[in-house]
Amino acid sequence: MSSPAQTPSTLDTSAASPADPPANPADVATAYALEHQEVLRRLEVDPAQGLSAEAAAANLERHGPNRLPEPDKDHAFIRFIKHFNDVLIYVLLGAGALTAVLQHWADTIVILLVVVINALVGFLQEGRAERALEGIRNMLSPSADVRRDGSWTTVDAELVVPGDMVRLRPGDKVPADVRLTDTADLAIEESALTGESVPSEKTTEPSEEGAALGDRTSMAFSGTMLTSGTATGVVVGTGEDTEIGRINTMMSEVETLETPLTRQIARFGKVLSLGVLVLTVLLIGLGWGVHGTPMTALLQAAAGFAVAAIPEGLPALITITLALGVQTMAKRNAITRKLSAVQTLGSVTTICSDKTGTLTKNEMTAERVVLAGETFEVSGTGYLPEGEVTRDGERVDLAHPGLRRFVEIMSLTNDTELVRGESGAWSIAGEPTEGALKSLAGKLDFDDDAGSRLTTLPFSSQNKLMATTATLPEPEAAPEGQPLPEGETLVLVKGAPDRLLARASTQLTAQGQTEALDATAWNEHIDALSADGLRVLAAAYRPAQGSDRESLTVEGVGEELTFVGVVGIVDPPRQEAIDAIKVCHDAGIQVKMITGDHAGTATAIARAMGIDNGEGAISGTQLEATDDEDLRALAMRHHVFARTSPEHKLRLVRALQAEGEVVAMTGDGVNDAPALRRADVGVAMGLKGTEVTKDAAEVVLADDNFSTIETAVEEGRRIYDNLRKALVFLLPTNGAQATVVLFAVAFGWTLPLTPLQVLWVNMVTAVTLAFAFAFEPAEEGIMRRRPRDPKAAIVEARHVVQIVVVSLLIAAVTIIVFRWRMDAGDDLEVARTLATTVLVVCQVFYLFSVKSLEGFSLRPSVLFKNKVAWMMVGALTLLQVGFIYLPWLHTVFDTAVLDPFYLLITLGSGVLVLVVTELLKLVLYAGRVPNPRAAPRS
Ligand code: ATP
Repeated sequence: MSSPAQTPSTLDTSAASPADPPANPADVATAYALEHQEVLRRLEVDPAQGLSAEAAAANLERHGPNRLPEPDKDHAFIRFIKHFNDVLIYVLLGAGALTAVLQHWADTIVILLVVVINALVGFLQEGRAERALEGIRNMLSPSADVRRDGSWTTVDAELVVPGDMVRLRPGDKVPADVRLTDTADLAIEESALTGESVPSEKTTEPSEEGAALGDRTSMAFSGTMLTSGTATGVVVGTGEDTEIGRINTMMSEVETLETPLTRQIARFGKVLSLGVLVLTVLLIGLGWGVHGTPMTALLQAAAGFAVAAIPEGLPALITITLALGVQTMAKRNAITRKLSAVQTLGSVTTICSDKTGTLTKNEMTAERVVLAGETFEVSGTGYLPEGEVTRDGERVDLAHPGLRRFVEIMSLTNDTELVRGESGAWSIAGEPTEGALKSLAGKLDFDDDAGSRLTTLPFSSQNKLMATTATLPEPEAAPEGQPLPEGETLVLVKGAPDRLLARASTQLTAQGQTEALDATAWNEHIDALSADGLRVLAAAYRPAQGSDRESLTVEGVGEELTFVGVVGIVDPPRQEAIDAIKVCHDAGIQVKMITGDHAGTATAIARAMGIDNGEGAISGTQLEATDDEDLRALAMRHHVFARTSPEHKLRLVRALQAEGEVVAMTGDGVNDAPALRRADVGVAMGLKGTEVTKDAAEVVLADDNFSTIETAVEEGRRIYDNLRKALVFLLPTNGAQATVVLFAVAFGWTLPLTPLQVLWVNMVTAVTLAFAFAFEPAEEGIMRRRPRDPKAAIVEARHVVQIVVVSLLIAAVTIIVFRWRMDAGDDLEVARTLATTVLVVCQVFYLFSVKSLEGFSLRPSVLFKNKVAWMMVGALTLLQVGFIYLPWLHTVFDTAVLDPFYLLITLGSGVLVLVVTELLKLVLYAGRVPNPRAAPRS
C-alpha cells in the first residue's frame, strides 16, 4: 500500500506526458472533499476523452493491476498434513499402531504407506480440483466501462487505472474508488465497506473534509453495488489503494470445495468408522471366545478388517468428481458459483427464463414503423445503418415531420453507439434494442450529434421507459406541411407502448400537428405488430419545463405527452434454444417464459418456440390482481408471463415452489437478485447480467443462452450420476474385503487374504478404478428421465441392496475359490495370491456393470465410451501382474506365481460377478416410474 507521505502531494502538471503519467492517487487522497473539476484537473483528465491508451498502460505499469492480494494460503505441507485429519484415517493409524505393537513390521509399514499414499492422492486431487475452480473464478472476473481515447470500452476490471473515467449502471459492482463527476438518481449499497445495508444516495457535491466513509457521498467505493441510477466518475484509487483494499476484505468469491453432499459423505464416513470399530471388537470377541484363536493372530486380522472396511479414498473421490464436473460444465459455458448447485441442477423441474437474449438472439432490427395513419417498412438486416424506409413502396426521408420527430426521439433517448469493426462488420456498444433504433436513424441519415441532452431518466425494467430532456437539432430540410417548432427543448420519451399511451393525451399527425389521442387505433397497431412476434417500442414527447432541465423523474414525465408512433423490431428466436426446450420437455422439465415484453409479442415467440401450451399469457397486471393462493394454480397452468416486473419473478418462484417444483430462474437486472436467491438454482446472465445478479446466482451463463441452462441441467444430472456410481462401485469393494475377513474369523478359517494383501487390493483400486467415474460420460437418455427427487439420498434403498448383494457375492466368490484351491492341496501362498487376484478382477468387471447403473452394461456405448476407465484398468492390470510375478513383491506380500489356468479362474469369477450383477439390476431397476411429462418418444 502506498502512503501519501512517500509520494509528492502536489504535481507539476506541466511536466506530465503520457510516458510520465500524471494520475497519482496521493494527489487526490481527499478527492471526496474536492470539487470534481479540481480532481479532474489534478489528475489531468479530460472527462470527454478519458485516458489515452498509452497513459492507461503507463498507469497500469506504475500502480499495478486493480486487484486485491489473494488471501494467504496454507503452505503445501500443511495442506498435505490436513489430509490425515479424518476419522477414517485415525482408525487406519490405530490399526497400524496395533500391528506395530505386535511387531508385524511389514503390516505396519504397508498400513502407513496406504495412509500416506491416500493423503498424497487426496492432496494431488484437491490441488487439481482447486485449479479447476480457480479457472472458473477467473471466468467470472468482473469488467468495467471506461473511456479511453474518447470512446467507451469495456475492459477487465483489473485493468482499470487511476485517472480512468468510468461509467456505472444499476447492478454494477464499482470497480475502483471513484470520484463521481456526473450522477442521475444514484444510490449505492455500501455494506461491504460500512456494514450499512440501506443504499446511500450519492451526488457530485464535495463532502466535508474528514467525513466518515459512509458520509462521503461524492464517492463510489470499490466493491460496493449500484442499486439504482447511473453515474460517471474518475478513478482515484485502485487495488490496494482503495478503501476496501485498506480493510482488505475479500469480495464474494466462488465457494470452497465443501458442499452439502461432501458433508453428508463425511458424516457417513464417521458413522462407518464407528461401525467398523464395533465390528472389530465383536470380531475379536468371536474369534477368541468361540474359536480360541490366538490373540496376536486376531489382532492382526482385526487390523486387516479395519483397513478392508474403510473406504479411505472416498473424500478425494467425491471432491475430484465434483470439481472436474463443474470444470466440464464451465467449458460448456455454465459457470457454477456454488458447487452445491450441481446437486440441485439434476432435480430441476421448472426452468423460468427471460426472453430477450436468452430465448431470442438479441440481435434486433427495426422492421416496421407506424405513425398516425401511416405505416413504413424498413429494409436492411443487422445493425448495418444501410437500408431504406418506404411507405407504399416509395422511399421517405426526414422531410416527413412525423418520421423526423420519431427518429429524433428514438435516437436521442439512446445510450448506444453503432461501431464498425475492423472487418467492416457493424456491432453495437450498448443495448441491442437501442442499437436497432440507432441503425434505423442511420438509414435515414439522421445526425444525432447535432442534438444535446440536458438530463436523463435511465431505462429501468420497472418503469419500462427512458426519457431525456434535449435540445433538438435544426432540421436540414424544410418539412412538408406545417413546420414543427425547431431547435427547441423537449422531454423525449421512448418505452413500452402501453406505458407511453397511458401517459399521452394527444398524438402527432403526419403533418406535424397535434390532435386528440386515438388509443384504440394505436392498440390495434400494437397488437398487429406483436402478433407477428415483433418487439414494439413507442415514442412520445412534450415541451420541456424549467425543472426538466435540472432533473427528470418518472413522475416528472407526466401524463400530457404527445404520442408519435411505434416501431416493430424483430428479434429472432435462437434455434438452439428451441431444441433445448424440446429436450427439457422430454426430461420432464417445464419451461416458462417470464418477460418484460408485451403479451402479444411474448405469446407469438413462445408459440414459435414450443413454450406456449395454448393457455396464453398472463400479464404482470393480472399477477398483481391474483392472491398467493390462486397464483399457484396460475403459475402451474400458464407458461408465458408478460409485462412483468422483477418483483413478479419472486412471487412466481414462491408459487411454483409451493407446488413442489424445483425452480431454476434466470435474471440479469439488479432487481432480479431476490428471485434468483429464492430460486433453487439462480441463473445469471454472464454477458448482460449485472454483478449483483451474478453474486446472487448459483450458475452464471457465459453466453446468456437458454440452451446452456439445459446443458447445465444435463451436466448436473451426469455429475450426480457419477458420484452415485462412484459410491455404488467403491463401497462393495470395501464391503467384500471386510466380509471375507469377517467370515474367516467368525468361522475360524484360514484368512483367504493376509491383512497386507487386503491393503494391496485397497490401495491399487483406490488409486486407479475409482477415479474412472470422474470421467464417465452421461448415460444415454439421461435427458429422458424424470427429474430426481431433491430430498432423496444419493444412494437410495435399491442401491444399498445392490451394494450389499455385490459385497456378499464378491466375498463368496473369493472365499469359495480360496477354499476350493486349499482343499485341492495348493500352497497357501498360491491360494491367497489367487484370492487377492479374484477380488481385484471381480472389481474390474463390476466397474463395467456400474458404468450403466440401472441399465444393461454390455453395450459398446457403455463399454467403450470412457477412455480413462480403460487406462485405469490397464494400470491396474500392470500392478496386479507385478503382484503375481515380481519376486520382490512376493517377499513383501507373501505371494506366489500363478499358472495361466488360475488366471482363467479369476476371469471366470469376474464374468460371473458381471452376469449376476446385470441380472440383479434387472430385478432392482425394472418397472421404474415412467416420466409423466415426457413427450412421446419418436
Ligand atoms: P426480458 O424480460 O425477457 O429480457 P424485455 O427485454 O422485453 O424482456 P425489459 O427489459 O423489462 O424486458 O423491457 C420491457 C419493455 O420495455 C420492452 O418490451 C420495451 O417495450 C421497453 N424497453 C426495453 N428496452 C428499452 C430501452 N432501452 N428504452 C426504452 N424502452 C425499452
